[in-house]
Amino acid sequence: MSNRTFTMIKPDAVANNHIGPILAKINEAGFRIIAMKYTRLSPELAAKFYAIHKERPFYNDLVNYMSGGPIVAAILEKNNAVEDFRKLIGATDPAKAEPGTIRNLFAKSIDANAIHGSDSNENAEIEGSFFFSQTERF
Ligand code: UDP
Ligand code: MG
Repeated sequence: MSNRTFTMIKPDAVANNHIGPILAKINEAGFRIIAMKYTRLSPELAAKFYAIHKERPFYNDLVNYMSGGPIVAAILEKNNAVEDFRKLIGATDPAKAEPGTIRNLFAKSIDANAIHGSDSNENAEIEGSFFFSQTERF
């Protein structure tokens, strides 16, 4: 699975009409879409998705924010997908994200930071499976 990663276009980016421009950046960077859906996380599902962060001070705000509006979830394919996608999205804090990265271009704050990218091959598989069954991957 080392050639696949998982992403979400987060509620702030969806609300600000950034779905199209963000997908264009993802395609221009050479990623192929394997699965994609426009959906919304319940608070319970957002809490489960981010359970790894439950001891961190921003956890409750993160769960409220991620369940506060629709998102776009997708599995993406490219050589070295996880690492290359993290480079494409930039640092967690958009103020520290490199020029031209998705968070530099489309995010306003460290909490509402436009996009998610898996941080390891193992988490890419876990997170992709959270949203998509085998028969939804093309
Ligand atoms: N987050 C936040 N405050 C922080 C750090 C993170 O609100 O100080 C949020 C932010 O939306 C981030 C998510 O929690 O994308 C997950 O944090 P992580 O450290 O895993 O950052 P990422 O992997 O998304 O860059
Ligand atoms: Mg992370």
